[in-house]
Amino acid sequence: MTSHLFDYAAKASQEYRTTLEERPVAPSEATLAALAVFDEAMPEKGEDALGTLEKLHTYGSPATVATTGGRFFGFVQGGSIPVSIASDWIASTWDQNAAVGVLSPISAKLEEVAGQWTLDLLGLPAEAGFGFVSGATMGGFSALAVARTHLYCKLGYDLRKKGLRGAPPLRIIASEETHPTNIKALTYLGVGEDEIIRAPCDKEGRIIPSALPQMDERTILIAQAGNINSGASDPFTEICEKAHAAGAWVHVDGAFGAWAAATRKRKEQVEGMGLADSWSVDFHKWLNVPYASAMYACKSKEAIAATFSKAAPYLVRGELRDPSNHTPELSRRGGAAVNAWVALRHLGREGVADMIDGCCDHAQSFADGLTKLGMTVLNDVCLNQVTAIYGDEENTKELVRRIQACGTTWLGPTFWQGRHALRISVSSWATTAEDAEKSLAAIAGCIEAMQADTLAKAG
Ligand SMILES: *Cc1c(COP(=O)(O)O)cnc(C)c1O
Repeated sequence: MTSHLFDYAAKASQEYRTTLEERPVAPSEATLAALAVFDEAMPEKGEDALGTLEKLHTYGSPATVATTGGRFFGFVQGGSIPVSIASDWIASTWDQNAAVGVLSPISAKLEEVAGQWTLDLLGLPAEAGFGFVSGATMGGFSALAVARTHLYCKLGYDLRKKGLRGAPPLRIIASEETHPTNIKALTYLGVGEDEIIRAPCDKEGRIIPSALPQMDERTILIAQAGNINSGASDPFTEICEKAHAAGAWVHVDGAFGAWAAATRKRKEQVEGMGLADSWSVDFHKWLNVPYASAMYACKSKEAIAATFSKAAPYLVRGELRDPSNHTPELSRRGGAAVNAWVALRHLGREGVADMIDGCCDHAQSFADGLTKLGMTVLNDVCLNQVTAIYGDEENTKELVRRIQACGTTWLGPTFWQGRHALRISVSSWATTAEDAEKSLAAIAGCIEAMQADTLAKAG
């Protein structure tokens, strides 16, 4: 009855993935214009199921950005290893609600296993608690909420009962280079942007420990593993020693950079990360699993429970983990942990290390290649991020525009060290040395065309 729909989905998905290499990375003008076919009135009587799927695939698939291919280097994305797409199909078919254990024993089980494996792989304390969330934004939000509970608990103030209005103020310190989503998360928690104290950073965007603002037992310090422009991580050992001596809580935003801990060649960059009190990390970026999949972890399981557990009478408590006692949501798709578990089991420690180190090696090739093309690389390329300029601001912006339109590769603009620059993030398992070469050749072509245009204008 339904098998023809599933067959069609499998066929369409296969076609999508196998033709990724031939299509432009960003959709063409024509495919974007064709999106107008979706501007139809909602049908009175329902339309045929297969026909609806055909419409979705025919006009929808070409209007995606090929972020799962090997030549997309914008933002910090990551693709998806094939086994995680397949597991995502199974998880979709299950349609499990990962709210409570009795509602989905498999979701509860795989959260426990994948969470524990992740703590181990990233060098975080085995006794930490954790929750699966939709991304590092919600990971940061959750961890900061738990941190706040913990500090208020120590101050003898019951935040959950008494609320924020009469609460003693906390000192929130964030790195000058903190990701904007952490500022957003803080505003959801009732912290005003002007209240956030910024910790000064060095030229690679790392917190300078000697310049850390005053900390005390009412302080939360937000550090990071993996600066989005340079890839650099904060010096965790020194930061944590200072913070803990003052009684402060340290949160590490490790959305993508935390994966350095799982490498062979770049582990030392995140040394001491496990000394912090909480962490957030994405699976959907560098572990290369489908959206939405991320995790946060906190040393204090008690503070997690005090923040998120809310046993409504109808929520049966059993032997199994109740995922919703660890996260803001109640109902939640079970796929995040399923896909993370599948990827970790399939890749193993060695596979993860190869994937992450491989991306970083390609980033180094990009840095060398861009330099040969006359560009200036602004960062010390220590991980997977390359930030560069091509002459002045106008030339750099024009080059980004041309690269984005070329179809062969895609990268984005950024602002770094007071300058407009372009940024390459190598975060996909799918990127090969050949992809890097093809992309560099395409960038060289854009530069040549720009030079030819300049000459033509001058002549
Ligand atoms: C991507 C990113 C985030 C936000 O993560 P989402 O998964 O998009 O919510 C936070 N911090 C850093 C450093 C990031 O790179």
